[in-house]
Formats: sequence, C-alpha cells, structure tokens
Amino acid sequence: MSLRELPSVDRLLSHEQGQELVARYGHELTLQALRESLQAARQSVRQGAEPPGSQALLQQAAEAIEGLLAPTLRPVINATGVILHTNLGRAPLSRAAQEAMLAAARGYSTLEYDLARGRRGKRQVHAENLLRRLTGAEAAMVVNNNAAAVLLALTALARRKEVVISRSQLIEIGGGFRVPDVMRQSGAKLVEVGTTNRTHLRDYEAALGPRTALILRAHHSNFRIIGFTTEPGLEQMAALGKAHGVPLVDDLGSGTLLDTSAYGLGHEPMVQESLRAGADLVAFSGDKLLGGPQAGILVGRAELVRRLRKHPLARAVRPDKLCLAALSATLVHYLKGEAEREIPIWRMIAAPETRLRARADAWQRHLGRGRVIRSRSTVGGGSLPEETLPTWLLALESPHPNALLRRLRRATPAVIARIEKDQVVLDPRTVLDWQEEGLLAALHAALG
Ligand SMILES: *Cc1c(COP(=O)(O)O)cnc(C)c1O
Repeated sequence: MSLRELPSVDRLLSHEQGQELVARYGHELTLQALRESLQAARQSVRQGAEPPGSQALLQQAAEAIEGLLAPTLRPVINATGVILHTNLGRAPLSRAAQEAMLAAARGYSTLEYDLARGRRGKRQVHAENLLRRLTGAEAAMVVNNNAAAVLLALTALARRKEVVISRSQLIEIGGGFRVPDVMRQSGAKLVEVGTTNRTHLRDYEAALGPRTALILRAHHSNFRIIGFTTEPGLEQMAALGKAHGVPLVDDLGSGTLLDTSAYGLGHEPMVQESLRAGADLVAFSGDKLLGGPQAGILVGRAELVRRLRKHPLARAVRPDKLCLAALSATLVHYLKGEAEREIPIWRMIAAPETRLRARADAWQRHLGRGRVIRSRSTVGGGSLPEETLPTWLLALESPHPNALLRRLRRATPAVIARIEKDQVVLDPRTVLDWQEEGLLAALHAALG
C-alpha cells in the first residue's frame, strides 16, 4: 500500500525546509499547509499516482502559503487612458497626501484631540475649515463616500417625509447606487415629478406640500439626455425651495473645484456654483474630480450640517484618520493654487498633447515595436460622459491581442491596457512618470 510511503506531518515539519517554512510563516500556517498537501497527495495516490517525495510536498505547501498571503489588493499600472477608473481605485493621491497619510498612520495623531486645550477635540475640524474656505460654505462635513453622504442627508433630513425629485434624475450610478433605492433605505418617500426628458419648475411647485422635507437634485453623472429636454436651473429651484421653506440638496456626484471646460472638456458642475446658486446642501465625492481619497463631502448651511452631525448614522459613516489626512492635504493644493501641478488626476487632465506624444514615442523607440497613433482618453468615474481628451497611444499589433493583454496583467506590477481596432493600445496619460520603468519591463517580457 503506497499511502504508507507518504511521510508524516511531523517528518515534514522537522525537515530542514519544513523548519524554514516555520521560521518564515509560523507553526500554525505551515502545519495547515503541510496537512493540506498531504491530504491532496493521499487523494492522488488513491487514484493511482506515484506518492510524491518530501521535497515535492514541502514545495507544494510553500506555494500554497505564498498564494494565501499574497495581497489581493495590488498596485497596477493603468494604461487604459481612463483617468478616474473606478475598478482601478479612482484617483491616485498627490505626494503630499501620501505623506500626510503615512504620518497619520505611523503614530498617534490629533484625530480627536485639541492640542491647545489639552482635551478632546473634534474629528470634523480637520477638513471643515479648508472646505469652508474653498467653497464659501457655512459648514462642511466629511463621511466615508458620497453614497453615504446622500444617504445621511436623506435619513437625517427627510425620514418619514417626502423628497421631491425629477424623473430625469432617478439615476443609477453603478455599484448598486440607485437614487430610488437610497431614498427607500433612508425612509424618505420619493415624490417623482416631470417626465424622463422634461421637468418644469411648476412640476416641482405642484408637488410641494406640508410633508415635503427636501427637494433633491441628482447630477446625471454618467449619462446624458439630449434632444427635447429641460430641467429648471438650480437658482430657480433654490428660490422655489426658499419660498416654501424647503431645503434644496444637490448631489453633484463628482463635483469639481476647478472648471473642467478650461481643459477642453465639457463643463462639469462646480461645487462653488451650486452653493452660489442657492443649494442648501451640496454632496460630492472625494475621489472623483477632487482627486483625493475615497470620501463623501457635504457643504452648506450650518443648521443642516448640524442636524447631519447629530444623527446616529453619522457615526456609522464617519471617515477614518487616513482619509482625513489625505483629504486635507489634497484640499491644501487647491487653496495654494497648485492643484493642476500636484494632484495626479489634474496633471493627467492637463497633460499637453505634445508631452503625451513624446512619451508614446519614447516607449516605441525603447521597445523597437509598435506604432504611435492618435486616440482619445476619457475622464471616467461617472463624470463627463462622452467627453474625451485627445491623446497619443502606443499601439502594438499582435496575432492574439487578448493573450498579450493577459500577459501584461500577469506582470508585477500588472499592466492594464485595452484593445482598439484589434491592437493592444497603451495611453501615457494615465501612466504615472515613476511607473514607466515597470511598464517597459512588463512590455519587454510580454512581447518576448
Ligand atoms: C458617484 C456618485 C455618487 C456616489 O459617490 P461615491 O463617492 O462613489 O460613493 C452619488 N451620486 C452621484 C450623482 C454620483 O455620480
């Protein structure tokens, strides 16, 4: 019976290589992995295979442990040209934001401590002052993400009451965030007005009543309605709300502090514009066009923000110290007028075509392969649908473009590229300067 030829767990553990595994990964993990490889060996022996030796069993266990411990959240090089790629983590952080995060992570911090008074302080102060100064809002609050910001606003301000919203804005932004569902979750009653393509101010007016808690405007974000369409301007909606004592909440989705139209893109609604138009509360993301960490930001009237802060849900969606550190550092770039230089996504948006072409040319020369072609990059992240920026790509012919994409994904760091007209294409716009070496090494290896 060849099962008996298999070594015991104890034999494997006391083997020199087994001892190495214990030293590296600890007793428990090693023991478990050895048991599992023995279990698998027994199975295959019963099916008629030769029993593996100790070496093979130990090797198998080592590989299993490595596979188990390898991080699944790994850095990748984004060569897709989609700047805010949600699957790839949206916005890379600025150097200052990375450093602020590290400083907050390494030790203790003033997260909720007032140094001047030597006693408990408030977590919300860190970004609030910066946000107020940047947007001119009375008050500001940071939560985990913008979905949480909208949920908190609806729950705290409109539970068991009515929220009036245009039918054209009952959007799904992906990842399961649907405005009607969030509304239901908050306990607010949805009152739809207008039609899919046209909603008038009088539609809103007719829906306002004693049970109305809010008027909500949700930015379409990831789609466009064109043709015979209308929605009232934010000023008109705000004035209507004021006349009836109903606050207007504006979910901007991405929102932006810089004017995207200055970069050859369409105009993405700006946070400052919403506040100026009279929105009482504006919600937007930290990691879309703001270019910071995942966060949801609420700015607006102090009295409303106070109500949000007091709600129990606020505790459940509060931001952590790493987020606040990175967000504050990102906001400082805007205050100093250096956002376009320091915040990676704005550098990408502002990258001149000549520079993109020079980089693609350099890649092509380095590899001695491919052609440099014109194409378009996109903003992504549910902002500015259909809007693109002119770019230059390195295009690689391959008999099996999908196989080449797969080989690039297997590199360390993995390279994510895309296929355009049967060619594998790489867009320099979203490849950070310090990633070029890794990109070229991966390309060399993948092209053989
Ligand atoms: C993206 C978006 C959200 C959700 O923001 P997250 O920060 O991803 O949670 C909510 N509303 C709109 C309109 C959006 O575009």
